[in-house]
Amino acid sequence: MEILTHSVQNSLRNSNYLLKTRSGEIFCVDPWDAEELAPMIDALGGQLKAVINTHEHFDHIRGNEELVRRYGCEVWVHYHAIQKIPKATRGLQALERIELGNGESLLVLDTPGHTSSHLCLLVQENDRAIGILSGDTLFNAGVGNCHNGGDPETLYETIVEQIYPLADEVVIYPGHDYLLNNLRFTIDREPHNLRAQELLKEIVSLGSESRQTLTTMGLEREINTFFRLDSLEIRSGLKLSAESSNKDVFLALRKLRNNW
Ligand SMILES: [Zn+2]
Repeated sequence: MEILTHSVQNSLRNSNYLLKTRSGEIFCVDPWDAEELAPMIDALGGQLKAVINTHEHFDHIRGNEELVRRYGCEVWVHYHAIQKIPKATRGLQALERIELGNGESLLVLDTPGHTSSHLCLLVQENDRAIGILSGDTLFNAGVGNCHNGGDPETLYETIVEQIYPLADEVVIYPGHDYLLNNLRFTIDREPHNLRAQELLKEIVSLGSESRQTLTTMGLEREINTFFRLDSLEIRSGLKLSAESSNKDVFLALRKLRNNW
């Protein structure tokens, strides 16, 4: 499967994705601006099968109506979000597998936390996960906030149960590019994290316009504070001991990151 990133030039730094399957079908995840996406869709062959929204927030569904008008495509959303999202035609269920032919599929993960009706899509080739479209659940070097309809404890369960177990080679395709700020947060919490320092240098040298850096689950385990809850450096910075639970550490980090 071909996965193209469209980095939106807005203050929210949304990232939109176009998927093209081997059989030529095109999917658009979390469209911001149909005008910007249409030339890319047309260059891929123009068969837009469906828009898929990871969740109901405005910045993830803004382009829905115009794409439906242009292409007559379907709109697939979390089954609990079907009333909240304009033009939604299909509610996706937890662990539903969307077969795309030629060994390709999308597996729907029900990932509440950022909102109560948030989904992630696991991109699979021959039953092997190669990528995750993670919306606002998981970012590069960070996790989603819970300001607008979310719940940090639920997010913790989602991250631990469904995100941590993903294989190291799985590539992260998040809903926003927050890598630079997130790395700075990691280093603030864990000044001795050399891998995060190296990557920060790399990103800074590319300039803030560059939005091309992808991370994998393997790298996330090294640079994402929310994946490193056992770290004594992180714990002592939060005034939490080795006896505190991972959940306590996660919740303290989430709270701190809210005001970062
Ligand atoms: Zn959101």
